[in-house]
Amino acid sequence: MTAISYHTPDALLAAYAMGSLSQPFALVVATHISLCLDCRAGFEAHQAAGGLVLEAAAAQPVTFALKSRVLDRLDSSVPPQASFARMGVFPGPVAASLQGKQPNWRSVGMGVRQSILSADHEGSVRLLYIPPGQAVPDHSHGGLELTLVLQGSFHDCTGHYRVGDLEVADQDLEHTPIADPGPPCICLAATDAPLRFTGWMPRVLQSFIRI
Ligand SMILES: [Zn+2]
Repeated sequence: MTAISYHTPDALLAAYAMGSLSQPFALVVATHISLCLDCRAGFEAHQAAGGLVLEAAAAQPVTFALKSRVLDRLDSSVPPQASFARMGVFPGPVAASLQGKQPNWRSVGMGVRQSILSADHEGSVRLLYIPPGQAVPDHSHGGLELTLVLQGSFHDCTGHYRVGDLEVADQDLEHTPIADPGPPCICLAATDAPLRFTGWMPRVLQSFIRI
């Protein structure tokens, strides 16, 4: 396991432990945790702290309907199965999301490919394949974007990201990630709002490629 320099922010670990992250972000955080002992420890600490809060709360009788609503919610917020076997460069949670199949790569131009794992009103999560030396078009975000490196590395104005590193980009950041020389860079990327590209051509493309 390589040294990881960029970790999951504590607030996101806490939200993940509470099951309150949207599915796209939960998949990225689960995947980072599967690669990072530090963040796994932080996540478990949040889980333990959450358990203590629940134990300290006075027991209240709950109706059957409330209990089944809570159970339904827990079912739908179950993190991706971390125990799913790793598939090549794809850690267990990503392999679980792919259901054991290879990614359905689609070209988005200039050698860059993407495979959308899910996209709905909560946001989207996809795999990105960036050839060495290639830039992903300039873009800013309407919300938060999480990018986790699974193979190779990339850099932008905020730093240098290698396998296991997580970049957290908010709506104020306009950046151009560029893949480093070496193996193609493969990332897992999630957003809670559509990306905004700054050039006119990417904006046209965006309506076709749903990012
Ligand atoms: Zn970490």
